[in-house]
Order: sequence, then C-alpha cells, then structure tokens
Amino acid sequence: MQNFPRLCSSLDDLRLATLTGDDSADGEGSGLSERVLDIQISSAPPTSCAVETSQLCPLIKSGWLDKNPPQGSYIYQRRFVRLDADYLRYFENEKEVYSKRVISVRSITRVSYVGEQKFEVVTSNRTFVFRAESDGERNDWVRVIQQTVEERKERQELRGTRVSDYFLRESISELGEKYGYLELRASRNKVYVSIRGDKVWLYKNEEDHRLGIGITSVEMNVATVKETDRRGFDLTTPYRTFSFVAESDSEKDDWVEALRESTAEALSNYEVAEQIWALEPNTVCVDCGIPKPEWASINLCVVMCKKCAGEHRALGPGISKVRSLKMDKKVWTKQLIQLFQYIGNRKANCFWAANVPPSEAIYESSNSMDRKHFISAKYREGKYRRYHLLFGNQEELDKALCAAVVTSDLEETMSLVFCGADTGCFSGDPSYPTPIDLAQQAGQVLQVEFLLQNRNSETPRLELSNIDKQYYVAPQSITHNGFLYKTASVGKPITERKSKEEFSKRWCVLDNGVLSYYESDRNSTPNGTIDMREVVCLALSSPAAHGFEHTFEVFTDSERLFMFGTDSAESIKEWVKSIAKSFLPPAVDLMDHDFERIGRLLYKDGLSLEQAKLGWFALEKSTLYVWFKDSDKEEVINLRKLQELSEQSDHEVLVLVEKRRTLYIQSERKLDFLGWAAAIQKAADSTGNTLSEQQLTDEDIPVLVERCVAYITQYGLTSEGIYRKSGQKSKTTSLLEMFLKNARSVRLREGEHQVDDVSNTLKRFFRESIGESIFTDNAYQDWLHTSMIPEEWLKIQQYQQLFSNLPRVNRATLKALINHLYCVQKVSDKNQMTTHNLAIVFGPTLFQTDGQDNKAGRVVEDLVNNFIHLFNVDEQQLKRQLDEIVSIIRLRDTCVMQSGQNAGDFICTVYLEEKKADCELSLKVPATMTAQELTNDVLYLRKLITKEKDNWCCFEVIDREEMERPLHHTEKVLPILHSLGADSYMVVKKNTAIETMLMYLGSKVADQKHGMVRFREERKLGLGTGSFSDRYFMLTDGILRLFKEVRSNKPDKEWPVKSLKVYLGVKKKLKPPTCWGFTVIYENKEKHERQQWYLCCDTQMEQREWMATFLYVQHDGIIWPSNSVCSRSSRQPSESRLGNVSLIPLRGSANEMRNSVAAFASDPLSGAQESATRAAEPKEVGCLLRREHE
Ligand SMILES: [Zn+2]
Repeated sequence: MQNFPRLCSSLDDLRLATLTGDDSADGEGSGLSERVLDIQISSAPPTSCAVETSQLCPLIKSGWLDKNPPQGSYIYQRRFVRLDADYLRYFENEKEVYSKRVISVRSITRVSYVGEQKFEVVTSNRTFVFRAESDGERNDWVRVIQQTVEERKERQELRGTRVSDYFLRESISELGEKYGYLELRASRNKVYVSIRGDKVWLYKNEEDHRLGIGITSVEMNVATVKETDRRGFDLTTPYRTFSFVAESDSEKDDWVEALRESTAEALSNYEVAEQIWALEPNTVCVDCGIPKPEWASINLCVVMCKKCAGEHRALGPGISKVRSLKMDKKVWTKQLIQLFQYIGNRKANCFWAANVPPSEAIYESSNSMDRKHFISAKYREGKYRRYHLLFGNQEELDKALCAAVVTSDLEETMSLVFCGADTGCFSGDPSYPTPIDLAQQAGQVLQVEFLLQNRNSETPRLELSNIDKQYYVAPQSITHNGFLYKTASVGKPITERKSKEEFSKRWCVLDNGVLSYYESDRNSTPNGTIDMREVVCLALSSPAAHGFEHTFEVFTDSERLFMFGTDSAESIKEWVKSIAKSFLPPAVDLMDHDFERIGRLLYKDGLSLEQAKLGWFALEKSTLYVWFKDSDKEEVINLRKLQELSEQSDHEVLVLVEKRRTLYIQSERKLDFLGWAAAIQKAADSTGNTLSEQQLTDEDIPVLVERCVAYITQYGLTSEGIYRKSGQKSKTTSLLEMFLKNARSVRLREGEHQVDDVSNTLKRFFRESIGESIFTDNAYQDWLHTSMIPEEWLKIQQYQQLFSNLPRVNRATLKALINHLYCVQKVSDKNQMTTHNLAIVFGPTLFQTDGQDNKAGRVVEDLVNNFIHLFNVDEQQLKRQLDEIVSIIRLRDTCVMQSGQNAGDFICTVYLEEKKADCELSLKVPATMTAQELTNDVLYLRKLITKEKDNWCCFEVIDREEMERPLHHTEKVLPILHSLGADSYMVVKKNTAIETMLMYLGSKVADQKHGMVRFREERKLGLGTGSFSDRYFMLTDGILRLFKEVRSNKPDKEWPVKSLKVYLGVKKKLKPPTCWGFTVIYENKEKHERQQWYLCCDTQMEQREWMATFLYVQHDGIIWPSNSVCSRSSRQPSESRLGNVSLIPLRGSANEMRNSVAAFASDPLSGAQESATRAAEPKEVGCLLRREHE
C-alpha cells in the first residue's frame, strides 16, 4: 500500500478542500487518505504511454515545479506541471495520468513574478504560486503561460464570443451531456462531475466548474462503467477506479447510461478519426499542419485543427461545413468517410493550394490573423486554387460535370464544382435531370455523396473579367513587339526548306492576348491576327532548317500553321517566351524549360482510359514535361528511358510505355499531332555516341547493355568461353547497328541470336560504339593508376572515389556490367571464365586499348573481386540474383540434355609437337575434355601412328617457351586454354621424361623427397632482385617445407603441394644457375594469396625426381594413364558431339579469334615478366611483386 497515497492524491485535494474550503491545502500524505477515499487500484501500472493518450492536445511546456505549501506548512510540494493550449495541470509525478489540479487557460487572468524563482498564476478566485529551479526556468514558464493565455484570448475575441459563451459552446455536445454532484463512496465527499463528449471532468463544486478550475479529467475511451449496488457504480480505467454513489436509483441509472454513451462515443469517434487519419496527409491540419486534426469540413472533404476549424466556421456553411470527427457522430456515414479517404487533404490541397506563395502560407505557429486571412483567401476567394481549363465557361463546366460524375474521377468533379460548375444544372436528360441523378444512375456513390454535400456550396469568386472564351487566358499584360519574317499560313506540315524569299517582313505586336502582324510599324490595320487562345502548339525548328537561322511554328486550333523567322537568336527567344506565356494557362508552369516544342494534347493514362483529358506538354531534348490535368506539378518523362514507343497510325495515337504507366497521347487536331509524334520519336532515339545519349532503362543503363546482359544471363552463363569466343563478325555488326539505331525495338531471341554474337555486340559497344571509355577520358588514367596502388585499402578507397565521380549513367552502367561479370565468374566451373579470364577480355574492351597495358585488366579484375564492397552491394539482393542464376542454369542443363545440343563448345588452337603454322590445329573443345582426350584427338586428326613408348602428352607452354608444364591426363583443358596469355600456347608432344619418372617412383617411397635445392623468391622493391641460394627442402605428408639449413628444426616456409603449380624452366632473365629449374606458383584462393618462386637442381635427374614426386603427391599416385596408347578410347561414341573435332574453325579464322581474345591477354606470369623488364619503372615493378607476395 506504499503507493496508495500517491495514486489517489489528486482526490486528496478534493477531500481536504471540501473539508477546509481552502484550495491551497493539498495535504496529501496526511495519512487520512486511506481511510477517506475508496479507491481501487488496477493492476496495470501507469505508463508514459498512457499519459500520451490522455494528452491529445499537444503539450506546450512541461516540467517539475514546487507548488506553494498549504497553509500552516513550510514544505513546498514538488509537482509535475503540464501546459497545453487549453489547460495548465499539475501532477504528483510525470507518470501520473490524473492531475491533482487542472486550471483552464481561459480562467487565468494574470501570470506574474513573485521573486525567489517564484511566480503566481492568478484566476478570478484563486492564486497558485509555483517555484522554479532557476530564474531562467521561472521566466520561461511565465512567458509561455502568458503567451498561451494571450493566444486564447485572441482566438475568442476574433470570434466575437464572450469567454463563458465560448466555453459553454465548446463544452456542450449533443450526446452524453450530464453534470451534477456525485458522492465518492469511501470519503462520502461530493464532487461535481461533468460529462463532456468523451471526457468526464471532476470539480470540487459547481462554481469551480463554471470557473474552469477542476481536479482532473478522465478520457472515456479507456473507461468502463459498472453498477455496484443500488445507487453505486464504478468508473474503471487502466490507471484507477473511481467509485461513485448517486443520489437516487434513477439518478444512478442516468449517470451510468450517460457515462456509457460517452465511452461508446469516445470509441466510435476514434474509429472515425482513425479511419480518416489512416491516410498520411489526413494526419495533419489541411491548412496549417497541426497534427491530429479533429475537425472536418464535410463539403470540402478536408480535416483541420481546432484553430483552423474556427476560421472555417467563420466562412459560413455555404463555403465550409464544419463538423467534429469525434463528436458529430451522426454525420459520419460510410460514404462520407470513404469520400474523405479518397479526396482528403492531399487531393483537396492539390486543388485549393496549388499556388500558395510561401509568404502567405500558414503553419502550426501562425497567429490568428494570418490564419483567418489565409483560410478566407483559400476557400472564399479561391485565390490559390488550380484552375480548371474550362474555368469561366459555365456551359462547358456544367457539361463537363455531367460527364465527370458518371466516372470515378472525383478530382475532376471537385475541380469543376469549385471552379463554378453548377451541381444542380440540367443534364439535358429528363430521366436524370441533375448531376446527382446521373451519378446515382451510374452507381457512383462517392460522386453522389460529394454532390450532396455541395448542393448549396458557393463557388469561390475572384474578381475576374474578360473571361469570355473557351480557355481562361492568363495575364493579358504580356506584350511584345518587333519585326519578324513570316510565311503564309498553311494547313499541312512544312516539310520542305523555306528560303528567305518565302518570308515577308512584318511588324508584329503581341498585346491583349492577340498577336497582330502589320505591313510595317507605321500601319494601324493589321494584315492578320492570331488569337493566343487558339494557339495549341509552338515549335522551334532546328537552326538553319530554313532560310533564316531561327524559325518557329505556331499551330492553331483551326489547323493552321504559321512560321516566323529571324536571324537574331535573342529576338526569337523573346518571342517564343512571350507567345508561350500568353497561351499557357496560369497554373501550368512549364516556362522554366528550354523547350523545343510546347502545347496541349489529349491524353489517356492507365487509370482512366474511357476519357481523354487535356494536358500540357513541353519537349526539351529527350525529356517530355507534362502537366497532367489532375496533378499539381509537372511530371517528367525521360523519353530515352521508355520501354516502348509506338504509334497507332490508324488512330493517330502515340503509345508511351514507361515502367510505371502507359500513356496514350493523341491530338485534337492532326496538324500539330504529326509534329509532336515525329519530335517525340526523334527525341526517344539515341542521339549520340556517349553513354548518356543512348536509350536508357529506368536505372540509367543503356538498353543495349541491359538486353545483352539479360540475354547472356538467360542463355549464355554456362557457355564455355563466353565473352572470350568471337562471334560471327557480320552478325555482330548488324546486331550492333540495330541496337544503335533503336535499341528499344531489338528483341533478342534464343535460336535467332547466338550467345557469342550477343556477347561480342556488348563488347564492341563498349569498345567501339561509345566515343569515350566508360571510365571517361578525364579519369581514364586515374583508373589505370589506381590498379597499381599496393595498399589494398587505399586502392579500394581510390576506386570508390573514382566511381562516385563518374557521370550517373556511367556509374549505373559500370555497376550493372561488373555485377554481370561477377555472376559470370561465379559459374566459371561451367564457362571457364574466371575473373582473371574475364578481365583479360574486358580490360582492353572497357578501356578501349589494344591490350598492351595490363593495368586495364587489373582494374576489371579488382572491380569484380571487390564488387560487393566497392559498389556497396546489397548482399541479400545479390544472393537472390545468384539463386536465380542457379535455377536458370539448372533449367538449361535439363534443356541441353534433352535437346542434345551444346552451345558452349570452344574452338581452340593447339599445336602438334611445336608452334609452327603447319602444326596448328583448331578444334572444338568441350568443357569436359581432358588432356588425354585432347592429346588423342590431335593425334587422331593428324593420323599419327603412335608407339607404346612415345608417351604423347599435352603441355602448357608459357612465357615465350621459357616454361612449360606437362598436363596431367585427367586435367580439364578448357580452363587452361582460357587462361593462356599471348605468349603462351598448348602443344601436344612426347613426354620424354615420363619413363624415367615412372621408374624412379617405382623404386622409392614415392610420396617423400628431400635434398638441397637452389631457391629464389620474387622480391619486393628495395630488397634487390634476389638471387639463388641453397636451401634444404623436405616433402612429406603432402607438405613441402623449406629450411634454411639442413640442421634447422623449424621450417622457414611451407606449402601444401596440391596448391602448387609447377612449371619446368626458369626465365633466363633471372639467371638460373643451372638449366634444371622449376618455376613454382603457389595460389591460395581463399586467402587471395599468390606466390611465385624458383628452384634449380644440379642435375636433370634431380629435376625429374622432384617433378615425379610433385606429380605423385598431387595426383594421388597416378601420374600417367595406364591406357595411354588407346587412341580416343576414352571418348564415348554418344559424346561425339562433344568431340566433334574439325580442322577448320567453325566460326571466324583462328587468327581472328586470337586477335579478339588472346591479343588482350596478359597472363600473370607474363605480366610479371613485362614489369620486370621495364626496370626503368621501379614503382610498377615494386607494386607488382609485392602484390604477388600478398
Ligand atoms: Zn490548422
């Protein structure tokens, strides 16, 4: 029971005050409370959340204050004080829901300083003294309370209502209103209780009620009422239970009923408010933005705050019918709520507040004068509204209204009604004479509701004159004059060039909405005039299209075309601006654009196809700016990003398919439409050879790139050597041409287009079609240099910097492409295109180089390797993408098996015995082909008769024949072929060492070897080039260990033998001490570790023994096939399609293929060598060597 006094303390006020008649005596903690008050505490503890729900009115200020001590005491009482616009309350603590005291702001007459951080709040019959913790805090409280009191007064004065009247009006609601004395059960003290709407107020007495000084209020939305006995009942809330006793049975019944109604109302009204607030724009006042607006105008279909609701009321119900969301329960029918959900603040403001100058807008904090002025201007005058195009033409407005109400287009109806259409006009149909009848007949319930609410609405009136024609024409003030050259008007498009002689010099005057042209500036009678209201389109011709440098065309309603020209760029600009301004409706703001064509067109969009609407369009380069009828701002259509653009010629409709919508543009007239159609189509095509001038996707990627990538992803990921193989040149060329002409129209289809043709089209696009590399001419060198930065983190940072500096389209394109390559290499087990292989191809492609500079490849390799980090890739998304690829591949594998086709065979060049022209063979290499199969195929093709001890074998020869490696017979050859550099090749020749090796292995413990070997490793810059020195090597348990000396206990280095790639031979440049050397590459893919080092043996035998041991360990004891003699024996006849060898390349010549592929190659080994030879560039060498040690 420790908390008990605190929880019930607010009622202590009541008890003691009632007993003593002294308000200042709070006296809680007196020990009497337990006995005198019958209060049950619910199990739910008070929470701050609960406080919030009870504080619907936004807080202005809150904080701890000391309240003056009750009489006879010197101890100040600490209170938590809250001030909102209507009440000053104080609480036992900040978590407490029910106040100890609530003082209506309206009852405060004065707030003043008392000294010692104290201040007093004075009401007509009582004074409350508070003490703050500092003078500053005290001053702040005084200022804020004073201001709140002032604002409240202003509000009431403005309305011309006396305070008490206002309070009364505000306090009385139609439902659940009841007030009177009730006894608190345990204390037997009487309190004055008043039910107002969804709140119950407790006062000490009736006078306090009148004065607005209460104890607390209870939000009924959280309360339940329960009868306890004959006269008693409980009001239970989650925070406290109030037990009351009424004066009689019938009184009790009345109270219970009233309280239950209040609760029901509170709940149901919240339902209304919550349904309407469910739309984000409805959660703040339509006029000033105050949150949780509880009031509504049911004809304007907007919700507003209490402050603005007052101003709305002042406008009169003819303009705004104000109702409470919470209290006026009966008006809120299902249809009305739906109407608010449909129109609501957003759409209403699109209309009413289309042109609000910032200086006139109001905010939460705006004072009441500004509020009044704004709301009156907005709804009474319609000052900021968006004019309907038919504004001013009553007959047309009414007609349009009758047409609109049978559709679902409520915004159109709203726009028409508030621009003057008569809701009671005659529809022309005696069976459904009014718009309401029409809407009812069409089953448009919301239209009916809207019309009903606006049956008697007054139309806002601005003082407007001169509105006599079909379209409201704006500022007549636009005047302009000067000499122009003019051709005779025509009724068809001007297609041929007009020479200077065909123009006549005219004095032109634009005034009062009319363009008049005179023989000369001295004439007073014009030769002719063009009414600006008739102008439907204005188009600038391209410079020098005609005899004059600058010309423009004016299209009119009556299908006439006027051409004007002059050589002065300045003059033409002025004229175009002036003319456009004088025929555009004032609400349409398209003048900021440097348009080539501007005017009005009919359009339909996906939402309402039944009725064409009038919109305003401006075309600037490849962008179409549109002012749709029912939007409050222009919309931007990037024509190069259209998914589709077509013309339905029979209907003269232009169909624009965007990602999110389809737009149908048509004309009211043929003449201007033809011009628009041609201009839009031209603007939608690629206009140049930069990336951004291509037709683009929504993501700013050239359509060509997207389509090729999508095609390869779908059909080419498992194709062996994808991007490395050359397609058929003529096919690639024509495909590329088609793409460049109109990428949107190109549809890639399987069967029709070969994977390699598509992949090469993509490569050629980057390499040839775009004027500058995707990395841009400016940054090109920076990208290349970045690849040489040794510090990985710095390099990444630099790439990111460079990437962010690229133009938008380049960025998007590069990211998409690297993403694609990332996916391609993920399937390298199938397509053999590892990152390195892809980099060999794409380095020179993207940098548009000849492939000599291997930095290009390194950049691409870096980008792919660091794809996720560099491009800030969403890994979840990437995972989905890869999952998708897996399923595509699975699907395709099934298809391939079924159809028995293999699209991915790679045509390779292999030599027999040595690299000479007449030893060259081109043959198809499927991914499954092993070294032994290749060997057998080559021998078979060359019809070589093999003998048992010939030991034909396949060798990888690299680095200008300085190193070679016999392939193990089970090794797959395709990945090796793909990774071969320019100075490397594959040859089938006799392995002269194999007999010796086999003999050696047969006589020894084959998986072990040790001995002294000369060793040299690649050195970092500054440590010299290194030289060979004797080291002790030991190979056991599959690990090769290096010891500094024979006696060393601990190895200096160790490597798993299976991760070593061992080549016979050492580059001469490294000055190997003997010719029996090895070049060993150690690669740890997981750790991205790569080392290269060299061994030299003293004798050939020693070299062969080591080699034999390596092979033995690497291949689990089988270094040579047992059936080596059988020619092609391993090839299944059924797989002949895979091994369908041919001496003639299937596509392109071998040389061509080399050029397209291998010429750009830079093998890591050859790269190292190249760098090493360029000793004059120490930095590069250093970087490179270090890289290889990492
Ligand atoms: Zn407001």
